[in-house]
Order: sequence, then structure tokens, then C-alpha cells
Amino acid sequence: MKPLLEVKDVCLSYHTLSGETPALSHISFDLMPGEFLAIVGPSGCGKSTLLNLICGLLTAEQGSILMDGVPVTRGNARIGYMLQKDYLLEWRSIYKNVLLGLEIRHELTPEKLSYIEEMLTAYGLDKFRNARPSQLSGGMRQRAALIRTLALKPDLLLLDEPFSALDYQTRLHVSDDIGRILSKAHKPAILVTHDISEAISMADRVVILSRRPATVQRIVPIDLGLTARTPLASRNAPGFKTYFNLIWKELNKNA
Ligand code: ADP
Ligand code: MG
Repeated sequence: MKPLLEVKDVCLSYHTLSGETPALSHISFDLMPGEFLAIVGPSGCGKSTLLNLICGLLTAEQGSILMDGVPVTRGNARIGYMLQKDYLLEWRSIYKNVLLGLEIRHELTPEKLSYIEEMLTAYGLDKFRNARPSQLSGGMRQRAALIRTLALKPDLLLLDEPFSALDYQTRLHVSDDIGRILSKAHKPAILVTHDISEAISMADRVVILSRRPATVQRIVPIDLGLTARTPLASRNAPGFKTYFNLIWKELNKNA
């Protein structure tokens, strides 16, 4: 099987008036079709920078990023990007917010609209379609943002700490929801998080980055031996703690 995404020897520094900040140093990893990858690393090590490179918002100074063998470019319609803030527009209803991406791309086809209906029902938002974002809980807002992203049917989903604004309880539920949604759709995804438990509970492999400039310190495949894997089930699996300790130690090696 060929990888969907290849990150090869990528380096990037930020150049500002106060000097040069090396952010990424010789980063390499692959993402296989249908795979869920988590990226963990210390705060400020370059995780968001890496996602910005993958979606083509930034260009690597060295190395290459290929999707199906072709270099990624800015505005790649095959990649969906979900951020920590949901960026829902308060002056639009939830339904209008969910349609936004399709509207911008002039893709409001009957087929896409019925896909949105399906998701609104499946994720418990159909009764809130006329509500404003501020009337919804944090978890519901994040689900609305996810539907907006998935409506574009991206081949790869990038998630940059999408749950970190939520309280712990909500966070568990929403990550469980999103984990289920993505695994049902066999959607390949890259989740950036600073939460080790979240990474283990959701990912097929965890890429551990070092402190800035980030290098790939280690890649840990996760196998919890579960048939029906959900984030909540993963957290209760016997192997969970072993992975947690392994990744914890790895992250603190250079602290
Ligand atoms: P993370 O997401 O892991 O917290 P970032 O990728 O946001 O880290 O940032 C990595 C480093 O690059 C940080 O030290 C940050 O201050 C710096 N940085 C990020 N964006 C810029 C920018 N636009 N200009 C200059 N430095 C930046
Ligand atoms: Mg970040």
C-alpha cells in the first residue's frame, strides 16, 4: 500500500526582525490511507507549523510534502483543517455556518446538502439548526465545526488541538464522538494534541516531537487489542497505561 501523505526531511525556520527561529528540523513520516496519526510534543515545538506546511499554508525550506505522490499546494481542496477555536460566525445560524465552506466553493449540490442533513441528525444537531453558535455548548459547537469541515469531503483531516478549549468531561465525549465519526468514515487524520491520553485513545500511531526545533523523536504504534475501538474503550484497555508511561518518559527525556 502506498502512503497517502509523505513528509520527507522537512525543515523550516521563521525569519523575523529579531532573528531566525528554527522550528522544524529534518521531519519525516508517512501517513497510510485510513490511518489516524497523533502528533504530540512540547508547547511551542512546531506542531502547528507542521500542520500549516501539510495544508500548504507554509512552504518548507528544505524537503518535501507529497499527497499521493504530488507536492501539496495552498488551498488544497483535499485537505480539511480544524482548529482549536471553532470559528463559527455568530450572525449565522448553525445550519448556515455548516454550509459556509460549500457556499464559498459554490458546491451546494443536492448530494452534499443531503450529506449535511445526515450528519446533523447523526451528531444530534438537527434540532439546533436555527440556533446561533452562542446558544450551543462547547461540545456542540465543535461538532458543528467538524460537520462544516467534513461537508467538503476532504481526503485528509488535520486537527490542531481541537478539544483543548473544552472542559474535561465534554472533551472526553467530543473526542469519543469525533473518533467514532472518523473511524466509521475511514477518514485519515492527523491530530495535534498536547494530551498524551487523547493521542493514545484515538491514534493508530503517535509521532513524538522533540523540543524546538522539532525533530521526530520516536513513532509509537498503538495496539490496544480492541475490536471495537472507541476513545473511551481505549482509555480502559489494559495496555493504555504502558503506552502512557512510554510516551511520558519520551517527552520528558529532553525536558
Ligand atoms: P506549537 O504548535 O507546537 O505550540 P508552533 O508551531 O505554533 O508551536 O510554533 C513553533 C515556534 O515557532 C514557536 O517558538 C513560535 O513562537 C514560533 N513561531 C510560530 N509562528 C511564527 C511566526 N509566524 N513568526 C515567527 N515565529 C513563529
Ligand atoms: Mg500549536
